[in-house]
Amino acid sequence: MRTPGYKYEVRVAEQTGHRLVRAEDYEQFVGPEMVQRVLDKARLVSDLHVVHVNSTYYGGGVAELLSSSTLLLNSLGIKTGWRLIQGSPDFFTITKKMHNALQGADINLSRRKIRIYEEVAFENAVRIHLDHDVVIVNDPQPLPMIEHYRRRGPWIWRCHIDLTSPHKEVWRYLLGFIEKYDAAIFTMKEYSKGLSIPEIFFMPAINPFSIKNRELSREEMNERLERAKIPTDLPIVAQVSRFDRWKDPLGVIQAFRMARKKVDCTLVLLGNIATDDPEGSAVYRSLLDNREDRIIILSLQDSALVNAVQRKAAVVVQKSIREGFGLTVAEAMWKGTPVIGGNAGGIRCQIKDGVNGYLVNGVEETADRMVKLLRDGKLRNEMGRKARETVRRNFLLIRLVEQYLDLLNSFQAKHLLTRKKF
Ligand code: UDP
Repeated sequence: MRTPGYKYEVRVAEQTGHRLVRAEDYEQFVGPEMVQRVLDKARLVSDLHVVHVNSTYYGGGVAELLSSSTLLLNSLGIKTGWRLIQGSPDFFTITKKMHNALQGADINLSRRKIRIYEEVAFENAVRIHLDHDVVIVNDPQPLPMIEHYRRRGPWIWRCHIDLTSPHKEVWRYLLGFIEKYDAAIFTMKEYSKGLSIPEIFFMPAINPFSIKNRELSREEMNERLERAKIPTDLPIVAQVSRFDRWKDPLGVIQAFRMARKKVDCTLVLLGNIATDDPEGSAVYRSLLDNREDRIIILSLQDSALVNAVQRKAAVVVQKSIREGFGLTVAEAMWKGTPVIGGNAGGIRCQIKDGVNGYLVNGVEETADRMVKLLRDGKLRNEMGRKARETVRRNFLLIRLVEQYLDLLNSFQAKHLLTRKKF
């Protein structure tokens, strides 16, 4: 089977000895029928030129999703680009505040903040030339750019944030931009906002072939952990997350301290700091006083280490208070590691409490589930097995790419009906 519409550019690029992950590679996980269906859908839209816009190349789920999904779409023959906006520290301080407000925090939405936000969006629009057939803008940072283009096709806003209880004033303000788009994609129906434009729901997904998620031999895994000086003599409890207060790292430390009175173990908090998140280093520094022999706090950008930690851990925790989706949950589940997840946002779609992991509401409950899992290897194996199956069925990238293809096909159909671009 060869990918139809497999682009000349991709073939030329691959002559340098590199190879892209292709839909066919997913056959071992999802079977030939799904792969064939995806190939067929891709063929129908292979003449489209698509672009994603966001604000960071690494650190955080959006960058993770875009790096893998844009490549898979290209391997399917759809030219899919990825553009990054630039901004001053002021801009990113404001957009992080907006992000927090959309997740329910308070904010003083002053004129000054609005001016900087809109000005930087304008400047980026001047520099970034978008004449693609479909433009997908991710999250609030580049949202206002839509005002400054003559559009050739549909513009879609993809929001990755937990919108359970957004700050009203901020939402009202952003709505002025959002409703200029042709559609909005949210992670779950629960985030629906009754917009005047079509609302679509796509859950994120993981790339099982990436350095972060691919199989690792025991030797590779141990070598990675040793290099990071993570002791493996006791069972590991780990949270792998950006340093962000919504991820409640302090709550994880408190729960670990309670659990450790009953079962001996090591806590690893492995995190990174996204370039568009100016609060990250302060959150990291605020945790450092908690470090001790058995509480290891690392700020690194190391995908292979993420893989090793999620794989080696007896238990992974993702004790978020708000969480758009939580790719780290799916990543650990894919490795057969049971996850204790905060009962919030997208984590609820991944974990079925007591079946393939646990959903928790507070520190004590987290500690209790840690002890339970650490004491019971059989339970860990059983939950881990179900966790991997959940991801195989629902959260592999080929499923998300199929949803994007359906969306592109719907625009294509519209275009054929009206005989104009959109
Ligand atoms: N991540 C990473 N290194 C770290 C911490 C996190 O590469 O030290 C990755 C993590 O593996 C996941 C992404 O960052 O792919 C976080 O996505 P998620 O949806 O969990 O949360 P977000 O950061 O987008 O809020």
